[in-house]
Amino acid sequence: MEETNKELFEKVVKIAQARGFVFNASSIYGGLRSSYDYGPLGVLLKNNISNYWWKDINQDNDISVFPVDTAIIQSSEVWKASGHLAEFSDPMVDHKPTGERYRVDQIPEGLDKEDLTEPRQFNLMFETSIGPVQNENSNVYLRPETAQGIFVNFENVLRTMRAKIPFGIANIGKSFRNEITPGQFIFRTREFEQMEIEFFCKEEEENKWFDFWVNKRMDWYKSLGIPEDNLRLREHSDNELAHYASKTVDIEFLYPWGWGELEGVANRGTFDLSSHEKSSGKDLSYFDPESNEKIIPTVIEPAGGLTRTLFALLCSSYVEDEVNDATRTLFRFEFDIAPIQIGILPLSKKDELIEVSNDIKNLLQESYRTEIDVTQSIGKRYRRQDEIGTPYCITVDFETLDDKSVTIRNRDSMEQERVAIADLLNFFSDI
Ligand code: ATP
Repeated sequence: MEETNKELFEKVVKIAQARGFVFNASSIYGGLRSSYDYGPLGVLLKNNISNYWWKDINQDNDISVFPVDTAIIQSSEVWKASGHLAEFSDPMVDHKPTGERYRVDQIPEGLDKEDLTEPRQFNLMFETSIGPVQNENSNVYLRPETAQGIFVNFENVLRTMRAKIPFGIANIGKSFRNEITPGQFIFRTREFEQMEIEFFCKEEEENKWFDFWVNKRMDWYKSLGIPEDNLRLREHSDNELAHYASKTVDIEFLYPWGWGELEGVANRGTFDLSSHEKSSGKDLSYFDPESNEKIIPTVIEPAGGLTRTLFALLCSSYVEDEVNDATRTLFRFEFDIAPIQIGILPLSKKDELIEVSNDIKNLLQESYRTEIDVTQSIGKRYRRQDEIGTPYCITVDFETLDDKSVTIRNRDSMEQERVAIADLLNFFSDI
């Protein structure tokens, strides 16, 4: 990482931890490497991102996307049929003197080849067992992706929702991979959240829907507030393509250390439904009323990472400003995405001001995420609200008691304006 970017990375990680977005997991026991817990603001931000994702995929009238929420532990047959048991592995070498294990494509420079073992496959799925007796029939795996939960429910959704292609099924949730080289904070962890869509269409229309999803997902990242300059598309070369994909385009983000994946859009063809049909013996075809034929639909998959998106958003929203010779730091979250949208700051802890602040909170909290902040000087409270990315602060002062008005401060411009309490709902609904 270049020096300046390393600094940005370290600052973002520090603020994320200091302000309650992300904590090291098991921190009172010294932590568990590359495992993280999401704190109050992190949970709000993560929920806002996932709600925004659901909202976006449902807003086109001409396509239907049905939600599912599938089990983390599925039958091991699922992972046999999907190819994960056989294919989901990275070749690894051990460095004999230290016992460190490296991915073949990530061996640090300077290591003596003589000291390395022959590459071996390493399966990335976490294995556990169910039931009281442990034997080969009790072996199960924590899912390494949410996608397979969708494929094994294809027929259930088709039948119960009377779905007609083209249509999609979407799933958000935790996935687990025993990554060899986790790191870079929450960019690559062993436990993470994915947001995946499998979109079922006719083969003749695969390119149209592929382009549709690449554009739609790219627009979504922009509307989330990630600047265009920090995003790009990268198509996989033939030797990089996964065994099931005929085409893949990654949406990449400019992380502090360089470009990296944010989401992959892949044409998975009929691979998954055909494999599950063959392995399960169940009919997973679609009856096309136009041609009177049974077909296995082609699948376009936009597969993104929720926790990775949260990290990208933290990096791209982080700003430092010089104000009166002092530096203030802020996250420039969009109004809809910010964990707290409106901070309510009574100028003092006097009962009359707290009372008005509570009334304002009651007025606003049905529509907005608000917080009353009473601790410390007003300057320090502005600083904290800037740092956690709150777009607006309302200050309740002694004049408020007479003129029934408050001061609204804009996070980005720091401009302040006086607004009547009676007009507050209008003010925020106009944003
Ligand atoms: P990478 O090349 O970074 O390992 P991948 O190509 O294996 O990712 P996919 O299988 O396409 O990832 O998963 C879809 C998305 O899930 C990724 O684009 C990423 O956002 C997210 N993701 C995958 N692995 C991790 C991880 N270990 N930690 C956090 N997010 C992840």
